[in-house]
Order: sequence, then C-alpha cells, then structure tokens
Amino acid sequence: MLLSDPVTSIKGIGEKTAGLYGKLGINTVEELLEYYPRDYELIKPIVGIAELMEGEIQTIEASVAKPQTARPRGGKQAVSVQVRDSSGTMYITWYHMPHLYYQLKMGTRFLFRGRVSRRNGVLTMQQPKLLKREEFANMVGKELPIYSLTKGMTNHMIGKAVKTAIEDVEFPEDFQNAGFRREHNLISYKKAVELIHFPKKRDDILTAGRRFIFDEFYLFSLAIRRRKELGNEIPNSYSFKKREMTDSLLKALPFSLTNAQKNVLGEIFSDMNSPFVMNRLVQGDVGSGKTILALAALLYAAENGFQGAIMAPTEILARQHYNEFEERLAPYNIRLCLLIGSMKAGEKKAVQEKISNHEVDIIVGTHALIQETVSYDALALVVTDEQHRFGVKQREKLSQKGNNPHILVMSATPIPRTLAIILYGELSISIVDEKPSERLPVKNCVVNTDYRPVAYKFIREQVEAGRQAYIICPMVEESENIEAENVVDYTDMLKENMPAGVRTACIHGQMKADEKDKIMGEFLLGRIDILVSTTVIEVGVNVPNATVMMIENSERFGLAQLHQLRGRVGRGREQSYCIFMMGKESKEIRDRLSVLNESNDGFYIAKEDLKSRGPGDFFGIRQSGIMEFKLGDIFQNADILKEASEAAQKTAREDVKLMLGRNKALRQKMEKYGCEWNL
Ligand code: ADP
Ligand code: MG
Repeated sequence: MLLSDPVTSIKGIGEKTAGLYGKLGINTVEELLEYYPRDYELIKPIVGIAELMEGEIQTIEASVAKPQTARPRGGKQAVSVQVRDSSGTMYITWYHMPHLYYQLKMGTRFLFRGRVSRRNGVLTMQQPKLLKREEFANMVGKELPIYSLTKGMTNHMIGKAVKTAIEDVEFPEDFQNAGFRREHNLISYKKAVELIHFPKKRDDILTAGRRFIFDEFYLFSLAIRRRKELGNEIPNSYSFKKREMTDSLLKALPFSLTNAQKNVLGEIFSDMNSPFVMNRLVQGDVGSGKTILALAALLYAAENGFQGAIMAPTEILARQHYNEFEERLAPYNIRLCLLIGSMKAGEKKAVQEKISNHEVDIIVGTHALIQETVSYDALALVVTDEQHRFGVKQREKLSQKGNNPHILVMSATPIPRTLAIILYGELSISIVDEKPSERLPVKNCVVNTDYRPVAYKFIREQVEAGRQAYIICPMVEESENIEAENVVDYTDMLKENMPAGVRTACIHGQMKADEKDKIMGEFLLGRIDILVSTTVIEVGVNVPNATVMMIENSERFGLAQLHQLRGRVGRGREQSYCIFMMGKESKEIRDRLSVLNESNDGFYIAKEDLKSRGPGDFFGIRQSGIMEFKLGDIFQNADILKEASEAAQKTAREDVKLMLGRNKALRQKMEKYGCEWNL
C-alpha cells in the first residue's frame, strides 16, 4: 500500500465508510495519516464521586446501589441506576442501551467513564462507558486522540484505521534526510505520524508536532525562496511618463498625507518605474489610509494609457471603493467600472466587454475579476485589498490576466516586519506605520450587561450629536438561520429602547448581497444611525462618522477579531468609543478583554490572545486568523518558523533546483505540494 492509495485500500474501509472519510477531506492514505487529532484527552486516574467536577470527562469506580429502572422517556428508552462508592452516590442514565438493564445487577462493581454534567441541580454522567479494571489500567495516563468527526464516525474508527494504515503502508524515503533531521532535531516522518496519533505521553505530542510544524514552515519558505530565485525579476514592460492627474488627485485631497503614506507612495512609484515589475506588500493597521495609496497607483497606470484593477474580498468593500473612487476621480477623464458577482448576467457581460475593449481604465471588483470570462486589454497593475482573505492562487490568477503586470497587495494583518519578511519572502514590503494625526485614539471600556441601559443612553446622545454607531451581535453557533433571527430580534429590542427618531437597521450574512450593499450605502450616507450587524462588517468598511462600536458578548470573540472590529471606529476627527459588553462575567474574561484596553497595537494583541488561551491548546485553536497553517501558528511557533525559514534559505542557496542526491525526496515532495500553499 502506498501513501497515495485511496483509503479503501486500508483493511476495513469499504466504499460506504470511504464516503464518510471523504466528508472530512480524507481520500488517500496519506491524508488519513495527516489528519491530526484536534485535541487529546488525558486519561486521569479514578476519582471519588464526591470529587467529580462538572464538565470534565472522569472515571469512577462504584457499585450498583439501587435496582435499575428502565422507562421510556420522550420516546427514548432509558436505563437509570444509582451507583455508590465510599465518598457518595449518584444517578447515571443511558439511552438506547436496553441491554445494560441486565448487566447492571445490584451490588456489582464497575468503572464508569463519561462526561460529568448537572441535571436538575445534581451531578450525573452522560452515557458513560463501562470499563473493566484491567482495561482501564492500560489506558490511564495516556493521551487519547480526539478527531474532528462527522456523523457516523467515531474517534475509535479513525484510530483503528490509522493504526492499520501505519502497519501496512510502505513509507517512502523521508524527504527530510537524516543529516538534516539531526541538525534540526527532528524525528522521522514515520515516527511523527505514530506519535501524533498514538502518543504515550504529552511530550510525544510536542515532539511529533514539532516535526510537522517544521515541515509546514520549511516547505512553505522553500517554495517562496525557489520562486524568488528561479523566477524573479520580471522585466518591466510598462512605461509611466505622466503623473499630472495623480499629483492633482493627491493635492485635491481634503487631508494631507501622513509621512508614512508619502514614503510608501514613493516606493510604489519608484517600483513602477524600475527595470522590473513591482511585487509589493503594503501593510498598515486598520485606518492607516491604504486605500488612497491604491487609488493613486491605479490612476498613475490609467493616465498613462493602461488599465488597473483592484480586487476586494467582499462586495460591500468593492462597492465602497468604487464609490470613493468615483467621487475622487470625478474631475478627471478616467473611466471607472465595478464588477461583482451579484450583478445581473447582462450587466456583467456589458462590463466585461468594456474591460476587454479598454473602454474602462480602472476596474474595481471582487472575485468576479478573475473569472474566466473576464479578459483585460492592457492590465498594467493589479491590487489586492485585504490580501489575507485571498489565496496565493487567486492573487496569481489576477496577475495572469495581464502580461506580467505590477502587483500591489494590501493587508491590515498585524505582524512585524521581521515576520513579514519571512512569510512574504517574495514580496517587497512597505509599512504604513503611522495613523493620520487628526485621529484621536479610541476610548475603550469593558462592561457587563448591567451597563446596557447606560450604553444605550450614550449611543443615543452620540446619535443626537450627529454621529453613528455600530452594534455587533454575537454569532449564534447553532445555525445561520438563528444568527439572522438573532440580529433581527436584537434590532427590534433596540428600537424599543431608542426614541422614535433614531433610525436603526440590521445587516447579516443571510441577506442578499444587494440588500447588504443597500444598507451599507445608507449607513455611509448617514441615513441610518445605528447599524446592528454580525461580523459581516469586519473587513475594511469605512464610515468615518461612526463613533461608537458596541460589541455584545465580546467574550466570544478572539482579541484579534475584536481589534479588527474596533478598527471600524476612530476613522474620523471625532472622539470614538468602543464598548466591550460581556455577556458572561469572570475575572479571566475581564483580564483577557483588558488587553484591548491597554493597547491599540494589533500585533501585541494577537500575541496576548494566544498567551491568554494558555498551554494545552496544542493545535486547532488558532483563531488569530493570520496566515493559517495546518498545525503551525506563526506566533506560538515563532521560533520554529525562524529556524525553518533559515534552513529553507540555506537549502535554496546551496541547491535551489534540488538536484543533489540528498534532496531527491525533497524535490519530489515539493513537486507534489510546493505550490499548494493557500495563504
Ligand atoms: P485602511 O488602511 O484601513 O484601508 P482607509 O484607506 O479605509 O484605511 O482609510 C480610512 C479613512 O481615513 C478614510 O476615510 C480615508 O479617507 C481617511 N484618510 C486616509 N488618509 C488620511 C490622512 N492622511 N489624513 C486623514 N484622513 C485620511
Ligand atoms: Mg482598507
């Protein structure tokens, strides 16, 4: 059996089960082996009934005390018994397991293992497993893998399949050769696979994780290095002679550019005039004023007879850029168009024709810009806004629409330059590290729900003073429908608490794109005072007149996400406020949220966010949302990232084509995966 064989070649997996694996994205043996546990459960020793803790999976040893009762409850067949140990008694119930009725004889002893919960005020166990003493003795102290599952699958099934696969598969030569592994303190791939699925102790998980995380970062860095070394420095075939319009646009702005903006613009113009095409990342925290830089570059291309396109991740954002551009470009003879997915087919076709006939100069849009049906006439510049929302492939698709156009990507991802250099190795980097000086820092407060009336009063006063406000409703986990309902209900409740003149509206993910755009448009024009929303407004929305951001259930969000949300206010001259409302209060929550009080620095916040989640979150809970790798986290594993990136640099320097014997297996690995990075 080979790693590339389908999962059906594993003993015990038939077509039907393979379908379930397919749902988890597991189609080959290799994908199964690299389906890492989401978490581990340490099997702790037996505890007394009196020591049980709510919410935990625990094991007790107890004897059956009261005769079992079996009665159907709400159509479910239930078996319920009282059990006792020397410390206390408790009731346990099982559903749909009628055979237990015969097994649980009065006076017999068992080990019961299950999650402890509270029902009607008393502790109970849900559907615990019955274990024999010897069986448990073998388990205790081990880390049991927990996988992300789909209906019809169990942890046990996956564990068994992995075990069989490890025994039967023929592992190819390790793509990290022995010398390299020794140098970087890495275990073999095979060993790592074994340990990550079947650790004997906690350290095993870390050792195995280190190998996989190193691999992720190393292959990623190597792909970037190779791209840089092998295919870099594309000659610049565009010439930009005129700059009158661009200069006039910049002069006509109602504000003066910050020094940071001026410097970055200088870098952009100089790139566009250099012998090679631009490949530049512009990084700047929310509100640092990146859009105007994009517009200046686009206009620069346009006034020299070329086309320029900017791609945004959402329709709201695309439309917002379009509206801003339309206004700023009004004095000039520049043709602008918008292309987004929700446009009617006929409309889209008409716009596409204009693009291919060069009847438009600046094109604003979403993913719609990279559809097959779109072709450009003279695309000299492509801009990707909020680039972390796109994959490398999507960015490349846009570039391929032109003949080696200049590339500008913009990001609000809060990472420091040193890290950016590693992660965006193939790009030059500009940082807009200064906010417009007229901006006052946002004032924050963290409060509990008792404060809601005060908050509403405050919002009302701001509205009366002519300002606008956002209220973020938490996402409801269960379903998207509930989410929509939730926002609508909340808005109704809000209306009752506000004077009649206050105009409120809501926006959520279930709405059609044009509905959302309409509401955002009205909010932008000041026709809506309070906008209740889910996190759909998270990315890039710009309404400078909005001065209050209130976030309900803020404890449910990651700090980095809260920081992004807060970035929606503090964009104008007026003082802005952010109210973090805690739906649930505790010292931990307060401490965690107070990080936002302390700092406006996105990177610091992202780092604290990880710290506050503490150890134990090995993998999986990486919600910083920044550069998602499968296991690796660029903050938490910053040291591995550094080492792997330096190692990749060395490899690329010594053998960029990977022709040396020792790099043969690595070359094969790269050929298979080297370009798959979707960051
Ligand atoms: P981001 O960097 O988050 O994309 P935007 O480009 O949306 O930020 O800019 C936020 C707001 O700041 C916009 O209203 C923009 O017009 C304004 N702005 C940009 N540069 C300046 C500046 N130098 N002085 C004052 N306001 C500015
Ligand atoms: Mg922006």
